[in-house]
Amino acid sequence: MMNPPVSEVIAITGTPGVGKTSVAGVLRRRGYVVYSVNELAERFGCIIGEEEGCKVVDVDRLAEILRNEIKEDRVFIEGHLSHLLNPDLIIVLRCNPLILKERLKRRGWDDEKILENVEAEIVDVILMESLETGKKVYEIDATDMSPEEIADAIEEILEGKEGYKPGGVDWISVIGDEIERLMRR
Ligand code: ADP
Ligand code: MG
Repeated sequence: MMNPPVSEVIAITGTPGVGKTSVAGVLRRRGYVVYSVNELAERFGCIIGEEEGCKVVDVDRLAEILRNEIKEDRVFIEGHLSHLLNPDLIIVLRCNPLILKERLKRRGWDDEKILENVEAEIVDVILMESLETGKKVYEIDATDMSPEEIADAIEEILEGKEGYKPGGVDWISVIGDEIERLMRR
């Protein structure tokens, strides 16, 4: 018989601004162990540079280190690279690009970086990358949810509740004619 896995690593991923760090705070308050990718990369010396103010993480090396370092039964890892860390399960948070754009503006990011990320959300970049890993993937449209409600949804996924299969989000049809306005600076 096969041994059960030593630990279960759950990635919380999504385009910047979808609410990963916010829901991580709620999950911590509920007693879960949650790490951020940057925090882990820093701790294990896996930051290999910086690009446009974003830390470049050696995800392959970090994934390998994590397999040996994580001792908890269940850990969450949040960050837009977390799905690349060989997790057991991937939860992709989604946010309506019109709202995402406003959130990223409030971050003070430059127009180019905002549009790049809004476009990535529209065309499902992180969802596609997640599906390509071959791991079990779930998707939450977090647009109209509070961080508490997103944490509830994550707990439902862990309990095996239905309704979070990937493919439920189609921003192009939601946005419709507004796409032109959206892609303007
Ligand atoms: P991420 O970690 O995915 O980049 P954050 O958690 O930092 O996203 O959230 C980005 C911004 O959106 C923050 O200003 C935060 O206050 C806001 N925000 C996050 N989650 C929600 C939510 N569920 N509803 C409304 N605003 C949110
Ligand atoms: Mg964050």
